[in-house]
Amino acid sequence: MAVKKKKIGSAGRFGAGYGKVKQKLVAVEKKQRIKQECPFCKGRAKRQARSIWECSKCEKKFAGGAFHLKTQKVKK
Ligand SMILES: [Zn+2]
Repeated sequence: MAVKKKKIGSAGRFGAGYGKVKQKLVAVEKKQRIKQECPFCKGRAKRQARSIWECSKCEKKFAGGAFHLKTQKVKK
């Protein structure tokens, strides 16, 4: 029998159950992995605290989204 490929990605670690919630979690975790780009030098920004971001290249500190620098709506 063919092995079913997991559709749930990073939420696979939670095992069976919680289907809809896992799908939402995958959407969030995918966003966390994309590059958070500094608006000044296009360098990599790192989240310091909620809404506070620091660029590793130009060392500027600036405000952004709470958990992602650019807040877009998560596609359902
Ligand atoms: Zn920068």
